Amino acid sequence: MRKVFIITAFSMLFGLAMMMSLSARGRMGQPELPQTNTTRPSNPLTSNFAVPVLMYHRICDLTPREARSPLLRDLTVSPVDFESQVRYLVENEFTILSVKEVESALREGRPLPEKAVALTMDDGYRDNFTRAFPILRKYGVPATIFLVTSVVGDERHLSWENARAMQAKACGFESHTMHHYDLAMLPDEQLDAELRESKQVIESQLKSPVSQLAYLSGSYNVRVTEQVRLAGYHIGWKKGGGPVTPGDYPYMLPRIRVHGRTEMKDFEQKVWSGMDAIQEQKGSVGNEACLPGMGSGG
Ligand SMILES: [Zn+2]
Repeated sequence: MRKVFIITAFSMLFGLAMMMSLSARGRMGQPELPQTNTTRPSNPLTSNFAVPVLMYHRICDLTPREARSPLLRDLTVSPVDFESQVRYLVENEFTILSVKEVESALREGRPLPEKAVALTMDDGYRDNFTRAFPILRKYGVPATIFLVTSVVGDERHLSWENARAMQAKACGFESHTMHHYDLAMLPDEQLDAELRESKQVIESQLKSPVSQLAYLSGSYNVRVTEQVRLAGYHIGWKKGGGPVTPGDYPYMLPRIRVHGRTEMKDFEQKVWSGMDAIQEQKGSVGNEACLPGMGSGG
């Protein structure tokens, strides 16, 4: 009898320890929760969202020669690393949004899941189709590619046919201009052509509205953002910054770079930055509510 009690107590403690370890973040390959009335934490919607929008470029293995270039090493995430990152998001139950969903949340004030990220890739490299797309399909995850329309279909970049195949599996395409020029350096007329023509070409090729532009290397100024707005875009993405939050200026939205040498612990920090911001805000709201006579100096 006593033995049974000890075993029961031990297994309860063990169960508690398991549950506590499961609530710790950053675990991959979570075991099934024991069959109790404790369920996994859900992913509730919030109007005070904070969504890390990740920014990639190439997804491939570098040749030994390419690997000597610091720039290429920085731009290129290996397919093995990319798959680990996507698997991490899926196993940790992140909701993977499209940037169109982020756009409608910003513009229409719709709530988004607390634990969410979005994936983007700039320049439309062919490996986005040959290497990244099979991984995206395997895990059922969407991504958005910002195309440079003048190079679509050349030997280094994906083709319109590739784009249509990806589009059929929930991937989206937006503009990264026609020629990848530094927009801030262009005269008004040329700037306007880069914005409008790239938008038109993608829309006519893919039969889907283009409403977002990614600036090159984060090069933009007030003149550029105003032209982007006038050319019919709703969103402009810059490089750098934290998660997207409801008050952000839509023509200077932040993205978080994933580099070639981003280690898993850095990746985890990037993707949890949204939840961290939400928790922090909840904490500070809670604290403020407890403060008597705020601003009275007492
Ligand atoms: Zn680019």
